[in-house]
Amino acid sequence: MEVEIRGVTKSFDGTTALHPLNLTITSGSFTTLLGPSGCGKTTLLRLIAGLEQPDAGSIAIGGKAVCDIGKRIFLQPQQRDLGMVFQDFALWPHMTVYENVAFGLKARGRRKETAEQVAEAIEAVRLKGFEKRYPHQLSGGQQQRVAFARAIAARSGLILFDEPLSALDALLRDEMRDELVQMVRKLGLTAVYVTHDQTEAMSMSDSIIVMQQGKVLQSGRPEEIYHYPDHHFAAQFVGRSNWVEPEVKMVRPEKVRWSKEAGDVGFEGIVQRVSYMGDRYEVAVKLHNGAVWTAYHSDRVALGLPVSLFVAERHIHTLGQKQ
Ligand code: ADP
Ligand code: MG
Repeated sequence: MEVEIRGVTKSFDGTTALHPLNLTITSGSFTTLLGPSGCGKTTLLRLIAGLEQPDAGSIAIGGKAVCDIGKRIFLQPQQRDLGMVFQDFALWPHMTVYENVAFGLKARGRRKETAEQVAEAIEAVRLKGFEKRYPHQLSGGQQQRVAFARAIAARSGLILFDEPLSALDALLRDEMRDELVQMVRKLGLTAVYVTHDQTEAMSMSDSIIVMQQGKVLQSGRPEEIYHYPDHHFAAQFVGRSNWVEPEVKMVRPEKVRWSKEAGDVGFEGIVQRVSYMGDRYEVAVKLHNGAVWTAYHSDRVALGLPVSLFVAERHIHTLGQKQ
């Protein structure tokens, strides 16, 4: 279920939400749209779903045009072969688990095989035995699984997620991350996942698309985006960056050493702040050139201490350069 987006634009009342956008989402991948609030993630997802119409461009799902403004093609959401999971789960409070999942199928105009498909979806999310419960009788994680069951019941090959874990508490969120990815893989689905949370994006995705102000800045594997960001914004957004030259060269904190090895570049500074993180200390060092770097240490380091930090040349990344 490849998704192809070509020249898609969208404005609301004269404000541009998406600049001309070209993207290919690989079939069978778990692809995440990552970016700050307001950058256009939801808009893009709603365009794929057919909940919104673009001003220009075309979208194809699994090789089939679901929208082509030039050719006046526009398929309604229920005519597109996809499922969607929203941030607030959007479950009907007056319907049971079974009815909520079945409703998803009815809304798509499918009557045949409903009972079997509902049962299969409920089993896939491990909620067998909960069919007669109402949403308020379920935990947040279980409600999330109902929303997922509803999205997969029609056996569509493509599933869209809009910040589906943001309403859950931190511990449950970690658990559900793994669970969602596993369920998506097991069912062989193509997933497009929206989040503003870089940890979520890094841990769940095969591919990350970094967005800023209605544009795609960079796309690639999580490791590529993290180690070889193309842009200052992407570098900052996916983790802490130590700038060797502002806007040009950076080092990730875990590559910084406290003692020199052959060929290392050295940086002098003063310890400015020390934060205990449980598994390590995060140390902020103000360099003589004014930049503040982050480095990690297994022991507490004294405030105000003059220190030298070292980095292997190969770990200094120049923005926009593949290594
Ligand atoms: P994100 O999901 O990344 O937070 P959105 O796609 O929701 O961002 O929004 C992108 C931009 O489009 C924002 O500036 C937002 O205010 C605007 N926008 C989104 N939907 C509408 C709408 N229905 N009417 C007017 N403006 C909208
Ligand atoms: Mg959004």
